[in-house]
Amino acid sequence: MKILVTGGAGYIGSHTCTVLLENGYDIVVADNLANSSMDAIDGIKKITQKSFPFYKTDLCDEAATEEIFASHKFDCVIHFAGLKAVAESVAKPIMYYENNLISTLNICKCMKKHRVPKIIFSSSAVVYKNDNPMPLTEDSPLGSINAYGWSKFMCEQILRDFAATETDFSVVSLRYFNPVGAHTSGLIGEEPSGIPNNLMPFIAQTARGIHSEIKIFGNDYDTPDGTGIRDYIHVMDLAEGHMNAINFANKNTGFEVFNLGTGRGVSVLEMITTFETVNGLKLPYSIAPRRAGDLPVSYTSPKKAEKILGFKAKRTIEDMCRDTWNFRR
Ligand code: NAD
Ligand code: UDP
Repeated sequence: MKILVTGGAGYIGSHTCTVLLENGYDIVVADNLANSSMDAIDGIKKITQKSFPFYKTDLCDEAATEEIFASHKFDCVIHFAGLKAVAESVAKPIMYYENNLISTLNICKCMKKHRVPKIIFSSSAVVYKNDNPMPLTEDSPLGSINAYGWSKFMCEQILRDFAATETDFSVVSLRYFNPVGAHTSGLIGEEPSGIPNNLMPFIAQTARGIHSEIKIFGNDYDTPDGTGIRDYIHVMDLAEGHMNAINFANKNTGFEVFNLGTGRGVSVLEMITTFETVNGLKLPYSIAPRRAGDLPVSYTSPKKAEKILGFKAKRTIEDMCRDTWNFRR
């Protein structure tokens, strides 16, 4: 089976490439390296001892995207490529809509023309409205408060309509919760450019001495220790979830959506103390005001993915903290 992996040089894409190669899939990677580098491609090759074609291509360039589809007979696309920084999307909404929507539209056009019948799409928990009761199920009401979230929402709608017309196609949208961790080799991991917005890369950089302290955004939430709760999932569990999605797409047509998380909420303080314990170090932190737009609590119901995809995250918070530090140090 031959798979086009868009955004395969990125964080989740690169880990998924290792899983695909180790399970015997042929892959072709397309990425414009807007938020990644060739280091990840080299890392995938080192880990798997396998090679694959890489295209440095902007998927918003329709002709260049068409050229990739014309050069290979794909069975499936896994579409990771996209811009993902929430704050940047609020400052530059048009850039986010243009990049995330045009790339998705171009891929749909090429899939239709070249009869590539399956796509797995990287969606996000940010497509859910922010006043839903927890846990979030795939039926929880949708809506967003930023351009990034709306761009994922709109891509899902495009793909839903696409699946309705291409009735022999299978479209699976995976709504990821909070991916963290790294490959155990330490050769690939999360490489945010600039100062990280997300908790785990900020913790890792603080452990490395890059920042003097972690700022905990609020300790007055209605949670057991007052700090925010999220559903962190190890990036290798998430990567493996794409195999479950491919198997599902092989047997089903139409549009389907799954949440991928663990179903367990972890607080900011719990993450910091686990990172300290597992890695035998001390992390300086202080309490700062709440971050605008933050939800107090977000976690999934893992039931649909468990029941229909047969997917269950295996790795623990300790694994996430250990593997993150193994990569970062
Ligand atoms: P990432 O930025 O590390 O990877 C995305 C990759 O896409 C990058 O390598 C980037 O260079 C590439 N890219 C962006 N626009 C492109 C374009 N027009 N043409 C070609 N390549 C392009 O991000 P990630 O964390 O690996 O996320 C992968 C996908 O999962 C994204 O679509 C993201 O929105 C989604 N997602 C991520 C998270 C998260 O917290 N990391 C959570 C939910 C959903
Ligand atoms: N957070 C924090 N300090 C940071 C970054 C994040 O306290 O430097 C908190 C944030 O308020 C949230 C949790 O950590 O409760 C996860 O934040 P992240 O940005 O990683 O994920 P998201 O909020 O996008 O789900």
